[in-house]
Amino acid sequence: MTIAPERPTTAPAVPASRRPSTGRLVDEFELGLDAPICLTWELTYACNLECAHCLSSSGRRDPRELTTEQCKAVIDELQRMQVFYVNIGGGEPTIRPDFWELLQYAVDHQVGVKFSTNGVRLNPERARFLASTDYVDVQISLDGATAEVNDYVRGPGSYDTAITALKNLQEAGFKDAKISVVCTRQNIGQLDEFKALADTYGATLRLTRLRPSGRGADVWDELHPLPEQQRELYDWLMSHGENVLTGDSFFHLAAFGEALPGLNLCGAGRVVCLIDPIGDVYACPFAIHDEFLAGNLLADGGFKQVWQQSELFQELRSPQTGGACSSCQFFDTCRGGCMAAKFFTGLPLDGPDPECVQGYGESALAGDRSIPAASQDHSKKNPTRNAPVMLSIGRRPDDLSSALTPRAAPVSACAESPLAGFDPAESSGGCASGACGC
Ligand code: SF4
Ligand code: SF4
Repeated sequence: MTIAPERPTTAPAVPASRRPSTGRLVDEFELGLDAPICLTWELTYACNLECAHCLSSSGRRDPRELTTEQCKAVIDELQRMQVFYVNIGGGEPTIRPDFWELLQYAVDHQVGVKFSTNGVRLNPERARFLASTDYVDVQISLDGATAEVNDYVRGPGSYDTAITALKNLQEAGFKDAKISVVCTRQNIGQLDEFKALADTYGATLRLTRLRPSGRGADVWDELHPLPEQQRELYDWLMSHGENVLTGDSFFHLAAFGEALPGLNLCGAGRVVCLIDPIGDVYACPFAIHDEFLAGNLLADGGFKQVWQQSELFQELRSPQTGGACSSCQFFDTCRGGCMAAKFFTGLPLDGPDPECVQGYGESALAGDRSIPAASQDHSKKNPTRNAPVMLSIGRRPDDLSSALTPRAAPVSACAESPLAGFDPAESSGGCASGACGC
């Protein structure tokens, strides 16, 4: 039998203006808000790195990328909608030549910015600029507390780049940067070290879940935490979690017992969405697929129109049944887990999460599944999709030490070193080598 992804059973949508209020915030969130509270905007798919688990399969710039003026018009609209802050990512957003101009424009228009970066352009001068701004937060991506573990998925030199950026921010007096970690099988054992790193640089630790989205689909089997590591993570968060940010990453772990702090529901299309570099609007940053495309802000009358009127978002905001999960005693807190994780592993959307801590995901994964093909891929021309960009490309490592053997021939200058041919003091965007097409 093939289990095809399907939407949860829905009842007719209830317009926001005619909803009875229960007084519970989570109920309001489930039915959607007039503006998203967590809006991610990927400014570019270009990236100097080529991380193995990149959720947006980034690498090359899309030639249809929004222009500076179009981006400013989006910011104007967000200001009118009273979206108080936006998460900017990519790709590597700082390699857009107009990145700093757009950041300043957003701040000047009362739209705060939190941007995610691998740190490549956070030199001392930029760090001083950031320290002088209000309403700007910086999130440095780091997927290992040691270079060995981090560079395995993010590429050689990327650990040093991230640490240098953290140092520059600290020395410039930037307060409370974030260290953003995708939790993998290889770094779960480093949680204490990550926390120590954050403390060293006066930063806050942010842990997120590895989802099988983008290139993450290619490496999910290898990198997603094992069941006992899920428990380890849950226990660690229970004892250290008060100063650690997790967003909506781990509400499926609530089925271990007590709910963790954070957003305990899937907010896709309800309070969360993504604007991609060409203005397409998706239900969530981890759901970049035609199935979750709500519209385009250039073609469909602007962001507000898409957010408030798209059929997809209306459907996601409708009351939904839990399907196979509704009889589970943990459904109230776990809610069946992450829609994107289910979709990209070919599991039904109204069934258990692939990492269901009660073990139902594993049995579902063992059954017949139809894994959806990617709708898009911005990876650099070589290697291609389904060839994860890890240091041991071409063979599956049995363990990390065997994986740390560098491959013989680099696929591009960028893949060999994130800084190859690249001047961090930049004035032009993209990788100066041109080899990767970004
Ligand atoms: S689909 Fe997953 S990642 Fe996206 S909002 Fe829902 S729970 Fe979060
Ligand atoms: S069966 Fe569903 S609701 Fe229960 S723990 Fe698993 S994913 Fe969560």
